[in-house]
Amino acid sequence: AAHRLPNFCAGPATMPTTVLERAQSELLDWQGRGLSVMEMSHRSKDYVAITEKAESKLRALMEIPDNYKVLFLQGGASLQFSAIPLNLLNGGRGDYLTTGAWSGKAVKEAKRYEALGLGAVNVVATGKDSNFTDVPAQSEWNLSDDAAYFHYCANETIHGLQIFEPPQVDAPIIADMSSCILSQPIDVSKFGMIYAGAQKNIGPAGLIIVIIREDLLGRASEWCPMLMNYEHQVEKASMSNTPATYSWYLAGLVFDWLEAQGGVAAIGKINQQKADLLYKTIDDSSFYNNPVAPEHRSIMNVPFTLADSSLDKVFLEESEAAGLLNLKGHRDVGGMRASIYNAVPLEWVQQLVDFMIAFEKKHA
Ligand code: PMP
Repeated sequence: AAHRLPNFCAGPATMPTTVLERAQSELLDWQGRGLSVMEMSHRSKDYVAITEKAESKLRALMEIPDNYKVLFLQGGASLQFSAIPLNLLNGGRGDYLTTGAWSGKAVKEAKRYEALGLGAVNVVATGKDSNFTDVPAQSEWNLSDDAAYFHYCANETIHGLQIFEPPQVDAPIIADMSSCILSQPIDVSKFGMIYAGAQKNIGPAGLIIVIIREDLLGRASEWCPMLMNYEHQVEKASMSNTPATYSWYLAGLVFDWLEAQGGVAAIGKINQQKADLLYKTIDDSSFYNNPVAPEHRSIMNVPFTLADSSLDKVFLEESEAAGLLNLKGHRDVGGMRASIYNAVPLEWVQQLVDFMIAFEKKHA
C-alpha cells in the first residue's frame, strides 16, 4: 500500500485513499477515451455527463429538494462572502450572526456593499465576549423585522464551534457549511442557501458548492459580476466560463465513495464516534483542554491546548515524528487542532489519542 500518514489538516484536507487510487487509475486514459479528464473540453458530452452525475449524487446524498439549484463554482467560500450581498441584499437588510473568524469575515465583506448603498448589514449578535467558545442565546439577538436573509457559519473551522441545528428565524437562512457539509444529515429545506468550499469534506480545492432555493434567484444587484450571479450560473449550468473541471470530477468521485460508505447518516455516526473519542481524551485529563461549550463542540475540527503551552513545540515535533501530520493549531487560537473530516478514519483518531495519552505520561 502507498505511504499515507494520518493527516489532520484543516484544509485542503486528506482525501479518501481509494478516491485517489481511482483518479490515478483513470488519469492517463479516462474510460478508454485516450485522454484524461483534465484534458477534456468542458463542453464535451463526456465531461457534461461527469458533472451531471456529480450533481445527482450530491442531491441524493443530501436529499436536496427539487426546488433547489446546485452550483459548482470557483473562488472559494470567501468569494461567497461578496456574492451573497451582491445577489441577495437587494436594498434590504442582511442579518449576520458572528460566532468566529469565518462568520466575522462574511460580515466584513458584506459591509463593503453596505458602504456602496446596496443595503444594510446587521450583526444580530457576536460571540466575541466568550472568545468564540459559545453562541449568544437567541433571546439576545437583535434580529431585523424583515431581513433579506440571515447568515451564519454552521461550523467555525478555526474555533471548533458548531451550530448543529439552524436557528429558527423568519428570514431565509444562509449557512456557510464549508467545514461540515456532508458530515451528518441535515434538512436542506430549512435553508435558503447552503454553500461550502470543497477542500475539506469534498476534497479538492478550487471548487465551491452553492445550494440555493429557486425563489432566491433573480434578486441580484446590477453590480454583481456575471460569474458571481447565481441566476446566470443556473442558466449556464455552472459553466458561464471554464469551470474547475478536474476538481469537479474529483468531487464526483468523493460522492461515489461516500455513497459506498453508506451515505451521510452512516458517516455521521462514525464522525460522532471520532469526536467523542477525542473530546473524552481531552476531558479526562487536566493536561489537555478544549474551551468550547459542550453543546457547540465541533465534530469536525477539535482545537485543544496544553496546560503548559511551553510544551506546544515539543508536542508538534513529537507528533510529527510519530507520523501524525498537521496538528498545529490556528494562530488565532493557539495550541493544537485536529481536523477529523469524513476521510479521516476512526483508526487515525485512535492513533492520535494513543499518542496524546503517551505524551501526557512522558511530560506531565
Ligand atoms: N468558511 C469556512 C467555515 C472555512 O473553514 C473557510 C476556509 N478554511 C472559508 C470559509 C474560506 O474558504 P476559502 O479558502 O475556500 O475561501
